[in-house]
Amino acid sequence: MTRRPLLAGNWKLHLGPGAARSLAAAIAAKVGDVAEVDVAVFPTALAVPAVVEALRGSMIGVGLQWASPHAQGAYTGTNSSVLAREVGCSWLLAGHSEVRRDLAEDDARVRSSVLGGLDAGLLPMVCLGESLEERRADRVEDVITRQLAALYDGLPADRAAVLTLAYEPLWAIGTGETATPDQAQAVHALIRGWLADRFPAFVAAETRVLYGGSVKPSNAAELLAQPDIDGALVGGASLDAESFAAIVNAAR
Ligand code: PEP
Repeated sequence: MTRRPLLAGNWKLHLGPGAARSLAAAIAAKVGDVAEVDVAVFPTALAVPAVVEALRGSMIGVGLQWASPHAQGAYTGTNSSVLAREVGCSWLLAGHSEVRRDLAEDDARVRSSVLGGLDAGLLPMVCLGESLEERRADRVEDVITRQLAALYDGLPADRAAVLTLAYEPLWAIGTGETATPDQAQAVHALIRGWLADRFPAFVAAETRVLYGGSVKPSNAAELLAQPDIDGALVGGASLDAESFAAIVNAAR
């Protein structure tokens, strides 16, 4: 089967509601009606309602960058998938390495956040990836399979098939250094093989595995041309409408 490419912009802790609304409108003007690929953006939580409004009527989805597994209650300082859905999100980012690093998110918490997202009807996009030290120590396969095992343990195939994965080597995020197409393809093939060994064939066939790590207009096409790379999660370059639109167009 052919997987529909998915291009996502992670706006991190950039852009308040006004600036996020403007960027969303500029992106929508360029690629808001593309039919051949899916597009999503992840603004800061405070800018989500403004971005949802700016993108109404376009094909571009909006997501939350992090969610507690709890729907609501005495969990001060957090956000939930249920409330994200209420304000118009369709996506949930989970396991981003900056959250793992800064908020001590571990594999178990990533999994519970993902389960909460699934329960709320969001589409989770889960980040995986190794550090430079782990790559140098030849531990890429160990790290990726550990993250996959923690995420998918006991998940029935119909729920597993809803997840999107994003392979994001930590050494390539925000550094300007990108995995080569061969390096990325090797890990994407490993991920698809892991899914194929554990689930009925449709899960590996349907799961989109995005690449993330310094994707820009100049390197997007060769990464996206790899057979197991189904799109990109884009940080820095997604903050510029022209660059992000160029990356979306590279996938068409
Ligand atoms: C990201 O934040 O997920 C990311 C890949 O960032 P960048 O494209 O800036 O490396």
